[in-house]
Amino acid sequence: MSELALSGVGKRFGKTVALADVSLQIKSGEFICLLGSSGCGKTTLLRIIAGLEKCDQGELHLDRVALSKLPSHKRNIGMVFQSLALFPHLNVSRNIAYGLKMRSISGEATNARVTELLALTGLVGFETRSVASLSGGQKQRVAIARALALEPRLFLMDEPFSALDAGLRDHLQQEVKKLQRQLAVTTIFVTHDQSEAMSLADRIVILNNGSIEQAGTPKEIYQRPLTRFVAEFIGNNNLLDIEIDETAVKYQGYNLGSPQGSIENLRGRQTLVVRPESIRLRASHDTSQYLQGTVTMQRTVGALVECDIDVDGQVLKYTALQNSGPEVSIGDAVSLSWDWSGLWCLPGESQ
Ligand code: ATP
Repeated sequence: MSELALSGVGKRFGKTVALADVSLQIKSGEFICLLGSSGCGKTTLLRIIAGLEKCDQGELHLDRVALSKLPSHKRNIGMVFQSLALFPHLNVSRNIAYGLKMRSISGEATNARVTELLALTGLVGFETRSVASLSGGQKQRVAIARALALEPRLFLMDEPFSALDAGLRDHLQQEVKKLQRQLAVTTIFVTHDQSEAMSLADRIVILNNGSIEQAGTPKEIYQRPLTRFVAEFIGNNNLLDIEIDETAVKYQGYNLGSPQGSIENLRGRQTLVVRPESIRLRASHDTSQYLQGTVTMQRTVGALVECDIDVDGQVLKYTALQNSGPEVSIGDAVSLSWDWSGLWCLPGESQ
């Protein structure tokens, strides 16, 4: 069991507020992704948990024991950073065994653990190879195996795959996820890549300017963003300023019909979140549809078609599978509608 509780954690560097009042409960065996743009405080939070940095305020408890009482080397936390800090003069096995040797674990137990980790991380056959001779992905595996050697209570990873090419990154993400499930080790993974967070996490914690904007499962974050920041950060959402009364939903000069779906009972000024893939497109101006606009950008990205559509000065993003919608080009007049059932208004912005 390894539960981590953060309450009111704050950290300043001079005038910079790196973390402000961060509170979070992490369950045993949970895979958390800390997600946010550069400078939002992700690494600082990880370093405070690891004991490499002290917080100015707040408390951290691991299994109800205050971490402030434990120096870094007594916390039994495994860490993998982007700069792997492998020992270049030691071979693969010795890198993995390093922590076990430092703890004076017997040679027999060390060999057994190293053998187990080589198998878990797909490094069998590489035991005596110098780490300098390994590829980027193999080095990552050594770093992961080394971090897990002491059966850590917490496994922390700071952007471990950001320097790797997309294919290898994808492969290692799936391996780490599988390994984490197998070992049931409580894990905190820092990334600024939303698709990485979506594919790995049990729960994503979105940080902005040192504060938590929202914490939730990938599905909750994607389908029910609670703040403007999250709605814009995740999934490229369109945010429409609408006004709802008993009979109609109004957006700019358009009447979008009677309130329905999740907004049926909302009234007043609201911010409607319309996901790019929720929009249905017609290739002409058709006043039976909700909005009329003009295509200002069109591109194909893999299996998807993406368009920007100018609707009276607001550019809306549209995404669809190729061949699932009409073929449109830049300059075309189009009409837009959507199914209200999947839409959502930001709860903090109703007036
Ligand atoms: P990135 O994704 O770029 O690594 P991050 O979200 O991990 O960013 P942090 O490294 O935690 O962000 O930094 C948070 C803020 O604290 C930033 O404004 C950063 O410049 C500042 N900061 C971090 N460490 C120090 C330090 N040792 N001295 C001064 N300022 C610091």
